[in-house]
Amino acid sequence: MSQHEIARRRTFAIISHPDAGKTTLTEKLLLYGGVIQLAGAVKAKRGRASAVSDWMEMERERGISITTSVLQFPYRGFALNLLDTPGHADFSEDTYRTLHAVDGAVMLLDRAKGVEAQTRKLFRVCKQRAIPIFSFVNKMDRAGRDPFDLIGEVESVLGIGVFPVTWPIFRGGVFRGVWHRLARRVYLFDAGHAASSAGLGAERPPVEVAGIDDPLVRAELDDEGYERLKHDAELLELAGDGFDREKFLEGALSPLFFGSAINNFGLEAFLESFCELMPPPRPRATDQGPVEPARDEFSGFVFKIQANMDKAHRDRVAFVRICSGKMTRGMKVTHVRTGKEIRLANPSTFMARDRTVVDESFPGDVVGVHDPGTFEIGDTLTGGSTFSFEPIPSFAPEHFARLVMVDPLKRKQFARGIEQLAQEGTIQLYHPPAGRAGDLVLGALGQLQFEVVKYRLESEYGAQVRLEPVPWQLARWPARADGAPLDLDALSDAVEGMVVLDVRDRPVVLFDRAWALQTAERLHPEYVFGETATGV
Ligand code: GDP
Repeated sequence: MSQHEIARRRTFAIISHPDAGKTTLTEKLLLYGGVIQLAGAVKAKRGRASAVSDWMEMERERGISITTSVLQFPYRGFALNLLDTPGHADFSEDTYRTLHAVDGAVMLLDRAKGVEAQTRKLFRVCKQRAIPIFSFVNKMDRAGRDPFDLIGEVESVLGIGVFPVTWPIFRGGVFRGVWHRLARRVYLFDAGHAASSAGLGAERPPVEVAGIDDPLVRAELDDEGYERLKHDAELLELAGDGFDREKFLEGALSPLFFGSAINNFGLEAFLESFCELMPPPRPRATDQGPVEPARDEFSGFVFKIQANMDKAHRDRVAFVRICSGKMTRGMKVTHVRTGKEIRLANPSTFMARDRTVVDESFPGDVVGVHDPGTFEIGDTLTGGSTFSFEPIPSFAPEHFARLVMVDPLKRKQFARGIEQLAQEGTIQLYHPPAGRAGDLVLGALGQLQFEVVKYRLESEYGAQVRLEPVPWQLARWPARADGAPLDLDALSDAVEGMVVLDVRDRPVVLFDRAWALQTAERLHPEYVFGETATGV
């Protein structure tokens, strides 16, 4: 039973630059999966009605997606787990962690814009993890770059190979369909249906053809469109190695698709191939060797913690990616970091605010479990074993601010709130080592994170705060090159920076410019300064 459940799971995220069409694509995937009936239900941008994938008030106000939600939906016998990621550039840390929990990614590109900044950043994380990456060129209904040109850009900018699985077909210069090179099928779009993008069925049923020379294809296109398709197909064959599955699985070759999410064009051709090519959950590395998904014992790790998803309950939810075995409602698991046994009372799946308690979940699934304050990002849960999954790196912040409490009477709320938000990973929090005076300093990957913290401290904890500028520009996690324990006083004397502790009491040095860090590295080779903090 489990084997079958594992085999049909596909756990992935969509990475893209804001505005490429991720929300639209997500929504269309849910439509195809039969989860929602109406386009427009997924995300309300500024001013529109309620949202499915955004649950924070602030998101609605700003029309950006701040938190990561998990959407599970069926498609032709497969169970797809789409981990939605914040689109805004400032929330990349959350996105990085989510990319740790997926088995593959879909890189969404805007036809006119190609590879954009945010896509590049997110792509780097996928590449580090060597996970399979699909590419989807969106907005093909609009004018934009030549398909060959886009392929060249992906290959040169991102340094991976590209294999176009579908290829666009034009008539009178207008996007008319796609030629599926692997399935040898032609998908033609019905322009009449396209007008109502709310529903499905814009695509006519795919036509099986012998090749593009098939009279069926010829009959659909004008001379120019047909010549162009023939010419392109020849070029592709010339360029062409076949589709190398091994390279794809290790993230070195990206299958590429063309379409228009808003018009439902090219989505079926994409979804079918996606389910077929994308691997089910694979073994995961731990400190005691890889763990197979089919292993009987349950295991999983926490990659995200979200407080106050439901303000009325003031609860905190830890999102667990299941890696092996089965998670059942009410089961007891071992929390490896503390050695404690924990009962998973009501494991839930989420569709934004709608929470559904699940009786059993399988490898590849993501479930939310109630967190009484026990969990931290990266924690491993098992059925009794003591192994730990690979730590999730936390990235060096690029923005800093001093955190000042406005109302001293709210000290308690303030302390609880900021501790909570820091543990959740919303922000990095630094405090002075015991016995030393100093301020609380916040570190973030983007400025907007500060606003989220300020807003949430006020709205969820009733604590007003002020953020003040600080000179710090870099944070580094120091260690002794010889592995000896760190002496904080000696370190403070040696470096021209401020020595503080992070939320897990690991020493951090804040530098005011790159030069101060370089000097420390040059004059004090006895220290190494890490860009990320890993481990516990
Ligand atoms: P996100 O920021 O990546 O989530 O992007 P959205 O899904 O919100 O889309 C950004 C804009 O592009 C919206 O105005 C969409 O209606 C539009 N859009 C999305 N897909 C397509 C498409 O296939 N063709 C065209 N012309 N516009 C699209």
